[in-house]
Amino acid sequence: MPATYDVVIIGGGIVGLATGRALLQRSPHVRLLLVEKEARLASHQTGRNSGVVHSGIYYRPNSLKAALCRDGAQRLTAFCHERGLPYRRCGKVIVAVEPDELSRLAMLEERGRANHIPGLSRIGPERLHELEPCVRGLQALHLPEVGIVDYVAIAYAFAEDITRAGGTIQTDARITHLRFDTSRWHLETPRARYRSRLLINCGGLHSDRLARLAGDTFPVRIVPFRGEYSTIPAHGRRLVNGLVYPVPNPAMPFLGVHFTPTLAHEIHVGPNAVLALKREGYRRGDINLRDCVELVTSRGFWRMARRYWSVGLEELARAWDRRALLKAAQRLVPSLKTNDLWPSPAGVRAQAVGLDGSLLDDFVMRESAAALHIYNAPSPAATASLSIGDAIAQRLAAHLA
Ligand SMILES: Cc1cc2nc3c(=O)[nH]c(=O)nc-3n(C[C@H](O)[C@H](O)[C@H](O)COP(=O)(O)OP(=O)(O)OC[C@H]3O[C@@H](n4cnc5c(N)ncnc54)[C@H](O)[C@@H]3O)c2cc1C
Repeated sequence: MPATYDVVIIGGGIVGLATGRALLQRSPHVRLLLVEKEARLASHQTGRNSGVVHSGIYYRPNSLKAALCRDGAQRLTAFCHERGLPYRRCGKVIVAVEPDELSRLAMLEERGRANHIPGLSRIGPERLHELEPCVRGLQALHLPEVGIVDYVAIAYAFAEDITRAGGTIQTDARITHLRFDTSRWHLETPRARYRSRLLINCGGLHSDRLARLAGDTFPVRIVPFRGEYSTIPAHGRRLVNGLVYPVPNPAMPFLGVHFTPTLAHEIHVGPNAVLALKREGYRRGDINLRDCVELVTSRGFWRMARRYWSVGLEELARAWDRRALLKAAQRLVPSLKTNDLWPSPAGVRAQAVGLDGSLLDDFVMRESAAALHIYNAPSPAATASLSIGDAIAQRLAAHLA
């Protein structure tokens, strides 16, 4: 007989784990299973990101991202302190280098005020020099509260809470079949079968496929974008003290080439955003035929390509020519040298794209028959994970009463 649960969560990334934890906190009686296809939790986006606890300055006021990021950042910081997990408050500056960036910086400051970002201030070149002697800029926004964490350690702490509360976590368990009869989900992995009243899809780079497998027809596709970093090893840490970001291009959901200190006292430079030909393709040569066919047969993809081709070419140039990456980074830190930049592992972002080719910006969760699909959980979903988990648990509370 297949094991029977009240709820099965697909995906052992930080969103799935935070959701499982929140559900069990709210409804301790619930029989909960979380399945993860890899041998280890947090193997994909959660384990391959910049490690920043974002402040929430970038997001449209009243968006889900703005609300959940601000709340999530505070809760995540408190969680790290409570559990003795690594956290370093290093602050962040968003720097306008050219005069034509000043109006965008002012708009960002306004957005920051609307989003109640703690400690936010606009600073001139003298204060910028005190904070970041190697950074050049006309003006900057200073966000003193921003910090860095280890999202893999946090994901494992969430997993510990799930098992301690009686939930089950199964790794090496790729969901291959999903079927709903009148009252239950039937799930299959190559080794086991399960039944469940509710299904929560937190499949990250595969969330659209899992949703389709479950019969949901929401017209959104995940397009994978590889983000490649370079690393400045520990001896180069004199170059920046905290996070240093450019003023972002408002038309794009990515933040531009920036400097991120790591807990290991290195500095990551990047990432870029290059179309990946495999959903979990971390190396340049990685190609997956199914992923490519799905891309080129999707209308949304071609419309996106038509809209963003010039930005895409710029990103590609930065990926293939280290001098282009160096040039983008030197806008902020002119003393940076080619030899400072060492190759570093990449991450792949799951970017949901609509039928009209638009890049979905906000978090997107969609309910359909006894299921909830997280279609879009890009950055800052790791920062916001505790609040996303709570929002989902609240939404499903009635089903699990
Ligand atoms: C380069 C980069 C930098 C980033 N920087 C930051 C940052 O600094 N701060 C921040 O807040 N956010 C950042 N993000 C975003 C953040 O990492 C993601 O928003 C977050 O990790 C999403 O978590 P997730 O659980 O949805 O996805 P994932 O971590 O990708 O987890 C999804 C899981 O589902 C599993 N899965 C998929 N299909 C199946 C199946 N069929 N059966 C079973 N399991 C399955 C996968 O194996 C995977 O483990 C960054 C992302 C990238 C790529």
